[in-house]
Amino acid sequence: MRDTIEILGVQIDRISAAYALKKAEQMARQPGVSVIFTPNPEIVMAAYRDPEFKEILNSADMCTPDGIGVVYAAKMLGTPVPERVAGFDLTCGLLESLRKTGEGVFLFGAKPGVAEIATDNLRETYPGINICGVQHGYFSDDENDDIVEKINSSGAKLLLVCLGAPKQEKWIAENRDKLTDVNLCMGVGGALDVFAGVAKRAPDIFIKLNLEWFYRFCKNPSRLGRFAALPKFMLTVSKSKKQRG
Ligand code: UDP
Repeated sequence: MRDTIEILGVQIDRISAAYALKKAEQMARQPGVSVIFTPNPEIVMAAYRDPEFKEILNSADMCTPDGIGVVYAAKMLGTPVPERVAGFDLTCGLLESLRKTGEGVFLFGAKPGVAEIATDNLRETYPGINICGVQHGYFSDDENDDIVEKINSSGAKLLLVCLGAPKQEKWIAENRDKLTDVNLCMGVGGALDVFAGVAKRAPDIFIKLNLEWFYRFCKNPSRLGRFAALPKFMLTVSKSKKQRG
């Protein structure tokens, strides 16, 4: 039984990072496609405005509280979550675990060539990891069936879908039933860019101080519009709290 809270209509699991990893490991080994999404404030706000997207997020088997804004919102609503569970960290934990057991991993998304570099780097970081297929994320609708076939014939048990939100969540919802071998699908945004070294994660000190968003903003001020979503998100959550009474 899941223990979830609702933030602007999106179900978020009240889980610690360790518990999330344990559940993800089970899902990766259990036949039948399980889905994990990692909503940050931007994603929750998008779902608030788009009922179809909200329904997709709520059809997942686990939604981790990614982004410190989600953690603060949960607290503000009087239903705190134990801690932030970043999709990227969860992915790293899972790769470490699959490295030991050898289940296949398929990397799907990012610009052409990025997943190949990510593969090389992951093989160094996680010796023994079985990356059994890659596919870039810039494709036409006509190519979709071939991509599904490529994933199925790779025998991968873990599929990392890195197309950015909401594209990745929508792709998973539309294709989940066509996946014959995959046990776990995760939507993890820019993870392949980080694995490939194309994008950098914030230094640990920023993560510990809950300032990863600030670091990302300083590195890329053109994302200002995306960061402006954060105060709007907190305000909307606060209003929803008043409406709940
Ligand atoms: N992307 C993709 N196909 C698309 C649009 C985006 O593969 O049609 C990739 C993009 O190259 C990047 C990732 O999706 O690797 C999204 O990264 P971003 O940092 O925007 O994601 P976030 O983690 O912030 O959702």
